[in-house]
Amino acid sequence: MRPHLSLLGVPVTVRPTATAAGLLSALVVALLARERRATLSVAAGVLWYTADCAHVVGHIVSSQAAGAPMDAVDFGLYPMSVYVDHDVSPGQHIGRACGGVVASLVAALALAALARTVSNPQARRLLTIAAAQHGLLFMVSLLPLRLVDGGVIYANLPRLWR
Ligand SMILES: [Zn+2]
Repeated sequence: MRPHLSLLGVPVTVRPTATAAGLLSALVVALLARERRATLSVAAGVLWYTADCAHVVGHIVSSQAAGAPMDAVDFGLYPMSVYVDHDVSPGQHIGRACGGVVASLVAALALAALARTVSNPQARRLLTIAAAQHGLLFMVSLLPLRLVDGGVIYANLPRLWR
């Protein structure tokens, strides 16, 4: 499939399944919101992709810093980092996996802190939703599963000292 977009020079292929996460996010907020349900639900659907985007940018930056840059993003149910070269050091594996995790955590904390300072209730709700989305991405990406960053980090940590 030909890439559709480019993020910091990295080609991004977007699949139809990429709509699922935004729709799910909108549905969850529609079920939880007690007021302004339609507005908040649509906003949550759109905001989800900004959380995905921040996570991917974290990976792009950290993979370049680790000297093992990301080759592409395959955006289906979630944005999967594509690396052609898997023959990199444990430190480089960890370096490129850490960027997304750190970006999601920093964004979640910054947005949560910002939400506390805003007096407009609607703006505060939006910031809280965005913070929760970044926080969710942070937690999911740290799970010890092969498909996510946590799996890569935990598998390579013991190899650092070999
Ligand atoms: Zn990630």
